Amino acid sequence: MKLPKDIYTLENVKYAYGEKRALSVEKLSVEASSIVGLMGPNGSGKSTLLKLLAFVEKPTSGKILYKGKPAAPFSRSVRFQVTLLTQDPYLMRRSVFDNIAYGLRLRGDREHLDERVAEALSMVGLGPEFARRSSRELSGGEAQRVALAARLALKPEALLLDEPTASVDARSGQFIREASLNARERWGTTLVIASHDLQWLHGICDRTCHMHRGVVFGTGLETLVFGPWRRLSENRWAKDIDEDRKIVVTAPPSEDAAAVLGWEKIRLSDAASRADGENCVKGVVSRLAFQKSADRIVGTVVAGNVPFTVRLSEDQITRSGLIPGKEVYISFKPDDAEWISG
Ligand code: ADP
Ligand code: MG
Repeated sequence: MKLPKDIYTLENVKYAYGEKRALSVEKLSVEASSIVGLMGPNGSGKSTLLKLLAFVEKPTSGKILYKGKPAAPFSRSVRFQVTLLTQDPYLMRRSVFDNIAYGLRLRGDREHLDERVAEALSMVGLGPEFARRSSRELSGGEAQRVALAARLALKPEALLLDEPTASVDARSGQFIREASLNARERWGTTLVIASHDLQWLHGICDRTCHMHRGVVFGTGLETLVFGPWRRLSENRWAKDIDEDRKIVVTAPPSEDAAAVLGWEKIRLSDAASRADGENCVKGVVSRLAFQKSADRIVGTVVAGNVPFTVRLSEDQITRSGLIPGKEVYISFKPDDAEWISG
């Protein structure tokens, strides 16, 4: 039987907590064995989407197909194949071994537990001696890696990670990255990962997307400028990015809509541009991250309170000496902004 190319297909999926709408996804597909990154501000719906993809919650309406078929929470097709690492994973107050073996035992999979626990530990960079430790004797980073090891022991088809590096040190972040890439390489695991750590995320994902007010969009390379917008004239609205500087856009659909600027709309230069009516603001390169999927560098340039996302070739970086800390000018036209009102 030929398996569908997409492990997940979502159609018109909505989710609400009581009256509060948290998610509205018209269409989204996730290719099997890909690594997809979700970025977006707090409350944008990342955790909610991951819970639906993990089949721990049911959408309020709409359809989620798993490998081309509808699947429901706890149904056999997903029960041990799909696993979610929540933001504050719960470890039982028992040994690391018991924590990691738990899912395998639950599945009735009791053979060679020692080896399999040791293997899962080694994937997250922890030695076999950790198995005997109590879960209470772990640092934050170790606990997160043990929680991940417990999921890896299941060799899942889909592994969903909610802010996996939020409270860990850089080294643990590195191990979590390695383990994720390994799972994909060894078992063809599909990963969907929500993270605020854009540098980390860009370094691991094949594809990223933004979330805002429950809507999924874009390529993750957009700059989002949040309202409220202040009216200047009929078709010019402003957002103050600090005390004495603003950026100007065309009329938003509502005062608190978010403006979206694709990376291709943003130009960088060493000197202020004089083009009429264009936005031109001075910013500082704050970081550069290698974007695995495109063999490009994704940069963040902060101007006032807005982090602009730009994409650069290595050549561009060398030529203009764009290292973190360097000042550059960002320009774009008022009508370059697209809108999401959510
Ligand atoms: P994110 O993970 O991107 O921060 P969430 O998916 O946690 O976003 O939240 C999306 C929206 O749903 C937010 O507005 C949040 O306040 C709301 N929400 C999340 N969990 C609950 C809950 N248990 N009860 C009510 N509202 C919730
Ligand atoms: Mg969240």
